[in-house]
Amino acid sequence: MKVTVLVGGVGGARFLQGARELFGVTPFPQPFDSAPAEAASNSVTAIVNVGDDAWMHGVRICPDLDTCMYTLGGGIDLERGWGHRNETWNAKEELAAYGADPDWFGLGDRDLATHLIRTQMLDAGFALSDVTAALSKRWQPGVRLLPVTDDRHETHVVIDNPGGEPGEKVAIHFQEWWVRHRAQVPTHGFAQVGSDDAKPAPGVLDAITDADVVLLAPSNPVVSIGAITSVPGIRAALRNTAAPVVGISPVIDDKPLRGMADECLSVIGVGSSAEAIAGHFGARSGNGLLDGWLIADGDHAQVEGISIGSAPLLMTDPGATAQMIRAALALVGMEAP
Ligand code: GDP
Ligand code: CA
Repeated sequence: MKVTVLVGGVGGARFLQGARELFGVTPFPQPFDSAPAEAASNSVTAIVNVGDDAWMHGVRICPDLDTCMYTLGGGIDLERGWGHRNETWNAKEELAAYGADPDWFGLGDRDLATHLIRTQMLDAGFALSDVTAALSKRWQPGVRLLPVTDDRHETHVVIDNPGGEPGEKVAIHFQEWWVRHRAQVPTHGFAQVGSDDAKPAPGVLDAITDADVVLLAPSNPVVSIGAITSVPGIRAALRNTAAPVVGISPVIDDKPLRGMADECLSVIGVGSSAEAIAGHFGARSGNGLLDGWLIADGDHAQVEGISIGSAPLLMTDPGATAQMIRAALALVGMEAP
């Protein structure tokens, strides 16, 4: 079975652990000389959000790609949910001693090595998708990690200008809004900033078109899934693929689990209930994206044209997440191998 999953960071990475378990694709550690995961009868391709990517201290940071890579590669800090385990913060302290901006971003020493290699490769002319494949040689995530685009496609946030005249607005990078301001500033909207004509990275459209099933991970519907589908061509591919498209709700009891998805949803005028999010994505039989929508037991949703089912949606471990994915497949009459 060929499975393609749209993912953000922490929620996406945990979901991929369940997909890897269910579809039996080779987990880490995989010897370099063994058959590649593609040779297995099942394959999982993750199309990863790059809207959070940013330049900081001269290096290119890709938080969602790295969270997926470290989580699947066994290197994630489990308590924080992002960054390396056994991290130290000497470089961050030294940068702060120089008064270097930004001072609000946690750049760990071990993490920095990833960013240095990525930046060197980008400077040498490699595309982000090539860089991700090269970094994955070390981490052996077992699933194919594809940035949705190799082009710059950053999420920026329009807020009231803190030092400006009343009513004056300013756009800041999503990371600054999320990490520095904890989303607690008057906010007016999101915009993707970068190249005028961002294109899907090589392999991305084929992964959607040739899939047997496409899953939307329970990632942030606005700044993870929404940022992915805002890359020109992605929405059309999702609408036209012969594969069913099934989403998994990121809320339980109508509340997001970690992070501030509700803040993002309220900015775009969508409620944080399972039903409101399904309505926001819409049915493929209308002009939306979903054939199926899996919600948490106890939540309620009804949207015309979308087949809705419920299951326990807490991703406590890969086994529980694998069960979730089974339930998602059942919504469109499919069974995991
Ligand atoms: P980020 O990029 O690190 O913010 O991560 P994602 O966008 O991939 O995922 C964030 C979303 O995952 C949040 O909106 C959470 O509600 C959701 N999430 C986190 N843990 C769980 C879980 O165990 N179950 C479900 N259903 N959603 C979860
Ligand atoms: Ca993210």
